[in-house]
Amino acid sequence: MRKKIAAANWKMNLTLQQGEKLLDDIIALPHTLKKHQEAVFAVPFPYLAMSQQKVAGKEHVFIAAQNVYTKKSGAYTGETSVEMLQSIGIQVVVLGHSERREYFNESNQFLADKVNICLEYNITPIFCCGEALNIREANGQNEFVGTQIKESLFHLTSDQILKVVIAYEPIWAIGTGKTASSDQAQEIHAYIRSVLAEKYGTAIANEISILYGGSVKGSNAKELFAQPDVDGGLVGGASLNAQEFVTIINSLP
Ligand code: PEP
Repeated sequence: MRKKIAAANWKMNLTLQQGEKLLDDIIALPHTLKKHQEAVFAVPFPYLAMSQQKVAGKEHVFIAAQNVYTKKSGAYTGETSVEMLQSIGIQVVVLGHSERREYFNESNQFLADKVNICLEYNITPIFCCGEALNIREANGQNEFVGTQIKESLFHLTSDQILKVVIAYEPIWAIGTGKTASSDQAQEIHAYIRSVLAEKYGTAIANEISILYGGSVKGSNAKELFAQPDVDGGLVGGASLNAQEFVTIINSLP
């Protein structure tokens, strides 16, 4: 059974003290993570070590970075390397969030390099993809997302692609309160899986977790996650509220 994942993306929010309290509150609220389920917290870089300590010993809970650079070390002021992340025990990194693509000009090729370095260091990339509203309105979402996946991931071997998690996040649904309907989510997740199956075969495609992101909340998570090709969510706004995020964790099938 492929992994079902509730991933929090704190983005550039919260002070250290607020982040600590949020994690404490989430840990204190009743939730269960079965063997095939995971909770991931993508926190700002300065809070990675604190967050690692908070969840130490908790099964199926991972702290993630929100980004990483393509180089191992060197004169790249302001950047963070996979070696640094690995040295503090980080095993997951969010890559290619639409905000990074838009504000920091991250291209599919640049993201392919980031995927490569993560896999070289045994770090799981949560690879984000998704179309803007004008592309959806022109019904070009499949082609657009298919190209993002092909250009950033299709150089990987079968063993490597199995270590990648994909997050489909339509840009028009991120932080807007506008969620894709469960039918819309299912349709494009099934398409993404078919693209993966064409390249890697059905058995491998069926092992790859594809998360949905875009205004997931406690009230819509269950219906979205019940879709056969939706394997959980990448959650921004609602992950900043302990009760909301725990409800989302508890909505994982
Ligand atoms: C995100 O940050 O990836 C996201 C989907 O945000 P929100 O849940 O706020 O739409």
